[in-house]
Amino acid sequence: MSKIWKEVLIGGSIAALFFLSQAGINVWPAVVAVGGFIFFYSFMPGRDLIGSKLGVGKPAASKITFMDIGGQEVAKRELKEALDFALNKERTAVLGIRPLKGILLSGPPGTGKTLLAKAAANYTGSAFLHASGSEFVEMYAGVGAKRIRDLFERARTLARENKKGAVVFIDEIEVLCGARGRHASHLEYDQTLNQLLVEMDGIGSNEEILVIGATNRIDILDPAVLRPGRFDRIVRVDLPDRDGRLHILKIHTQDKPLADDVDLSKLAKECYGFSGAHLESLVNEAAINAHRRNEKEISWQDFSDAQEKVMLGEKLDRKPPEEELKRVSVHEVGHALFGELEKPHSVSSVTIVPRGQALGFVRQSPAEDKYLYTKEELLEQIRVALAGAFSEELVFGSMSTGSQNDFSQASRLAKTMVMAGLSSLGIVAEELGQTEMNSEIMKIINEQGSFVREKIKPYKDFIQKIADYLLDKERIEGDRFRDLLERYLQYSEIDVSDLQTGSAGLQAAVS
Ligand code: ADP
Ligand code: ZN
Repeated sequence: MSKIWKEVLIGGSIAALFFLSQAGINVWPAVVAVGGFIFFYSFMPGRDLIGSKLGVGKPAASKITFMDIGGQEVAKRELKEALDFALNKERTAVLGIRPLKGILLSGPPGTGKTLLAKAAANYTGSAFLHASGSEFVEMYAGVGAKRIRDLFERARTLARENKKGAVVFIDEIEVLCGARGRHASHLEYDQTLNQLLVEMDGIGSNEEILVIGATNRIDILDPAVLRPGRFDRIVRVDLPDRDGRLHILKIHTQDKPLADDVDLSKLAKECYGFSGAHLESLVNEAAINAHRRNEKEISWQDFSDAQEKVMLGEKLDRKPPEEELKRVSVHEVGHALFGELEKPHSVSSVTIVPRGQALGFVRQSPAEDKYLYTKEELLEQIRVALAGAFSEELVFGSMSTGSQNDFSQASRLAKTMVMAGLSSLGIVAEELGQTEMNSEIMKIINEQGSFVREKIKPYKDFIQKIADYLLDKERIEGDRFRDLLERYLQYSEIDVSDLQTGSAGLQAAVS
């Protein structure tokens, strides 16, 4: 029953009772009966009558396992590790380790965050409760907080019943956990968030309750939520790369008859930028197309038609043209190359799968926290930032707008150098003139730029070959990249066929 109707009904009943009592009819038995019903009804677990949304955090049967989730290998590994940790409570308790209470899954919609949470519940044999941040937002003060209390109460009951614990999954958690004070007039948000924090802090060491939050906006979360003892672990769930997409397509076409002309690997390549949810919908639309044609098998054409529908229907950001992707590949390989040359073993992966605003990304292994940088280290970072643009220049003879952020980063680093007295100006006064500052920044950047431009020259062939590979596979691991670079440095050539063989074959070729 919708909320409006419920309110009309309640209001109407009260008016009717009032009218009847005015007419001299004894309404008390009816009032007592209805009142009693409401009283008991609202104390049943999961029910609150006024402004209620029945089933917030309703437990759902979950048969999803990690096997049903395609791609996301890193996320799966990190999540499993955290769960193993949670499962071995006796052992961790011996060492006095604080139990893990919360894991935050961060990434774009439709990438499988809900699936991961369900699989986590299955993996640990826990009950699964699902709620969404928006379900806690109400205009009545205190309702959101009450729903949080109820949700955790139910989780505790279920955990006690099955003795294996409960996973509380809260989707769109940013709605609930946006920084406090952002909604100036909405004390309600703060109350709800505070209640969540109280509940999480209150999870005892002998209570097996794990909270899994999901969000696409980790940047707007209240820092209090990320404090130790709350969401300690943050697991990134990115858009799948080509292999990931193929895996997901295989999972969703498992029980569907495919025509011989369907090449899933080729399809995966064409679906650049698709999320898992897009791929699921693609397969479904293709099956519908086949059904419309009265065919018993899904053909390549069905998939092609479906692709357009999914892209248009879901307003998917258009796939960049091949040429642009090639440029992105060359650019990213440039960053990775300089990253390795400046600081061996620092690159952990290179991808051209879009991530946030960036079209490509070089992941550097997280070095230990650093608070001090020497002049040489800052210059190193400037060179790595510039290498993307100069790599483009080397291969295509020109740069592009894709380097804007890199240049801003380089000038920020240069500015830090100037202010820290590490530039040719020496120690500077705080109110250094703008022109002086700018000319010093430009001097640093131009010097490093010329250095990069010279140093990158002998790597043209290397960059092009790795970029072609990246264009095809969308991702290359750091170790693989290092192997190839080493081989290139040794023989000043690499064979693209090396890239096709496994890394084992490559190892043999190198040694
Ligand atoms: P999120 O919670 O990240 O928004 P979901 O987990 O709800 O995404 O995914 C929605 C649907 O998309 C799933 O039910 C599934 O059919 C499909 N899907 C998404 N990611 C994957 C994946 N990695 N593997 C298989 N299917 C996926
Ligand atoms: Zn760049």
